[in-house]
Amino acid sequence: MTPDTSPATDRRPARPGRPAGPDVRLRLEHARDTRLAQLRALRETGQSADDHLMSAQAEAIQRVLKEIDAAFARVDDGSYGTCLGCAKPVPAERLEILPYTRYCVGCQSRAAA
Ligand SMILES: [Zn+2]
Repeated sequence: MTPDTSPATDRRPARPGRPAGPDVRLRLEHARDTRLAQLRALRETGQSADDHLMSAQAEAIQRVLKEIDAAFARVDDGSYGTCLGCAKPVPAERLEILPYTRYCVGCQSRAAA
């Protein structure tokens, strides 16, 4: 993962052929809001729940939040939507379901194996 320290004020024009438009940001923002709400709900109901299970769930959500942050950085640097495994474009349908994914289906299953 490449840390992106550039502030949001750094507005480079989108490269042609890479339609990482405002809808991509909206999708990512929505995904982040959903995860943050889940995290809040988890903490609010956490007292009575199994501690171990709760922290595992919270960790999983936080992992996704990091993925979402990284996806925002890739939107900024123009690499969003390109598979890190094979450098091919990730299919748009997949990005709709998993807007923060870095891999196409093939590379993802190889990475997860
Ligand atoms: Zn790939």
